[in-house]
Amino acid sequence: MRLSRLALATTKETPADAEIVSHQLMLRAGMIRRLGAGLYTWTPLGMRVLRKVEAIIRAEMAAIDALEILMPAVQPAELWEQSGRWEAMGGLMLRMTDRAERDYCFGPTHEEVVTDYVKRDVRSYKQLPLTVYQIQTKFRDEIRPRFGLMRAREFIMKDAYSFHMDTADLDTTYQAMRGAYARILETMGLDYRVVAADSGAIGGAKSEEFHVLAGSGEDELAVANTGGYAANIEAAVTQAGAGPRPAPGAALKKIETPGVSTIAGLAAHLDVAETETAKAIVVMGTEGAPVLLMLRGDHTLNTIKAEQLEGIAAPLQMADEATIRAHFGAGPGSLGPVNAKVEVIADHALTHTADMVVGANYDGAHFTGFNWGRDHPEPRFADLRNIVVGDASPDGQGTIEILRGIEVGHVFQLGDKYSRALGLTVLDESGKEVVPEMGCYGFGVSRVVAAAIEQCHDEAGIVWPAAIAPFTLVIAPIKADKSAAVREACEALYTGLKAAGVDVAYDDRGLRPGPMFADAELIGIPHRIVVSERGLASGMLEYKARQDSANDEVAHDIAAICDKIGHSRS
Ligand code: ATP
Ligand code: MG
Repeated sequence: MRLSRLALATTKETPADAEIVSHQLMLRAGMIRRLGAGLYTWTPLGMRVLRKVEAIIRAEMAAIDALEILMPAVQPAELWEQSGRWEAMGGLMLRMTDRAERDYCFGPTHEEVVTDYVKRDVRSYKQLPLTVYQIQTKFRDEIRPRFGLMRAREFIMKDAYSFHMDTADLDTTYQAMRGAYARILETMGLDYRVVAADSGAIGGAKSEEFHVLAGSGEDELAVANTGGYAANIEAAVTQAGAGPRPAPGAALKKIETPGVSTIAGLAAHLDVAETETAKAIVVMGTEGAPVLLMLRGDHTLNTIKAEQLEGIAAPLQMADEATIRAHFGAGPGSLGPVNAKVEVIADHALTHTADMVVGANYDGAHFTGFNWGRDHPEPRFADLRNIVVGDASPDGQGTIEILRGIEVGHVFQLGDKYSRALGLTVLDESGKEVVPEMGCYGFGVSRVVAAAIEQCHDEAGIVWPAAIAPFTLVIAPIKADKSAAVREACEALYTGLKAAGVDVAYDDRGLRPGPMFADAELIGIPHRIVVSERGLASGMLEYKARQDSANDEVAHDIAAICDKIGHSRS
């Protein structure tokens, strides 16, 4: 491609509204342009990367016999009413009405539509297993669209769905898809982890996420330093305290703690460790009354675990101050279990504690020497907290470290939730109607482009992994306007490298070397060949790999250049 024809539009300035590096670099390199909140146009340069990502995905889908389809982005409400998700999706779903006043949504996902499609065409066990996928635009009205394509409202997803006669067969395809996702990310040259995940609104039994590791990632991953345990912190299980509970050693004593409203403040005020305190969080229960959750002072509430407990309203709803005052006679900051007239659920890290500091249910007062059983009946203990660095791994092997990741893929074993709700049945060998098991597998096509940049960049710009770079090599002429020899050599190299199958860009824009090199680095082209009269005279051209700081050279010869960049000629 001649760069004069690409409508390149790079900028030096970092856009003020872009918080993370991938968003900044995609704007500066001119890969995307913003239309509105969470809405982006892919430019010709951006499309080159997107198409490469799609090609890698399609190749791996073909390798596991997943069949490509394309479903409508606009979906009738009736299907979502059948699955119960027209209500459940809430504000995330963009709804619309046609001229006949029928309700539709712009698909945030396609479980309902794909199940309806399979219902029409699949009648017999002989047609299963079946895996179909599409690469398509989704719309989710995210509460906080941000970070460019990382959390957009309109974005591109590869979504696959599989159908099976039984769970063993589902597991076989699930494992194959898991393998395909791993190969996709390996081909892209990205450092990633697979972690156990919460199934969220999609539902189902088993699910795992694929995360590209990056400091800017929105997700925290709990990964054991030895053994294989890895889980999204949302789903990471914690262990109850070990050993017997120490006997009470102190009497319950009320102390004044005026103005103390945080655990850190409380620990400092009493000169105790935060681990010797317990904090109170009041949430709404399913019966309308609040429920008191107790956690060790240094721990944090895992809202997903909490809302999955019986008796607690989902989505989790914090009690407001008026409700808290009505039930406890004190405000947040001084709450505790002593004389509380609501149900108490304590995190199981508190099972083996004695003589704790807790709120007194009087403003500006706490109790020291609090003991379960003596000062409050034994509560219901449950896993309520987020796992933290240094916790024992739930599988007993090693301790937990926390990594940050960007979720780029999510694989689910759905079971029969959607097939049952939408009345999909197939006939088994004996002619009996069976409700198929389903799997679903999402991959963030546009997000993975941003994730790759988060992981692969430097001060000068993007450092693309070879497989998804917009071009493999750029030819950079020096003073081409003054030298016919340089122009001719560039044309010959351009033609020769193209013929050899190299994805080559020829920077024929007539820029000075400084801006020309800066663009190539910003755009992240992995290899650069500089063509100058001096180089031509010596028979050696200046060569630089994007990630290297020093220049190198290469013989003025197509085969030598192909060798240098590791390209096997087609
Ligand atoms: P998240 O937790 O980041 O909101 P999700 O779990 O809701 O994502 P899934 O329903 O699992 O997303 O969708 C499959 C994939 O689609 C995700 O793994 C992610 O890569 C991508 N994706 C989801 N939401 C967005 C978005 N708003 N912008 C870009 N990509 C997205
Ligand atoms: Mg997900």
